[in-house]
Amino acid sequence: MATAAVRADDSRGRHTTTHRELVVIPSGALLIDNPGMREVGLVGTEEDLGAAFSDIDELVHECRFSDCTHATEPGCAVRAAREQGDLSEDRYQSWRKLQKELAYLLARDDVRAQAAQRQMLKARAKYAKGFRKDRR
Ligand SMILES: [Zn+2]
Repeated sequence: MATAAVRADDSRGRHTTTHRELVVIPSGALLIDNPGMREVGLVGTEEDLGAAFSDIDELVHECRFSDCTHATEPGCAVRAAREQGDLSEDRYQSWRKLQKELAYLLARDDVRAQAAQRQMLKARAKYAKGFRKDRR
């Protein structure tokens, strides 16, 4: 795709594309060029991940322990499927990666929610304190 050059002295410039395009690359995968977008994040829930990986989701329900991490536990159906070749390593690794990213995002949102709650309680306490002073 056509882009402008980057300056040699400071490595800055407009080395970007200017239109959206969906490209089929030789492997058959689809690549979306979306100018102006610097990062693509995960949006969704654990249910969405389970729906996208329904084969693994079914295995998860067969694990011996309900808190199985699907890594090294005995009686793990996911591990057994990997060992038997019923579940490809690529697919398992993709699932793990998205699972970790989702866990990080959920924890981050939780931290933000807690901070917002503290802020709200602080503001409320400050308001109440001011109100008591005014009544004297
Ligand atoms: Zn498991």
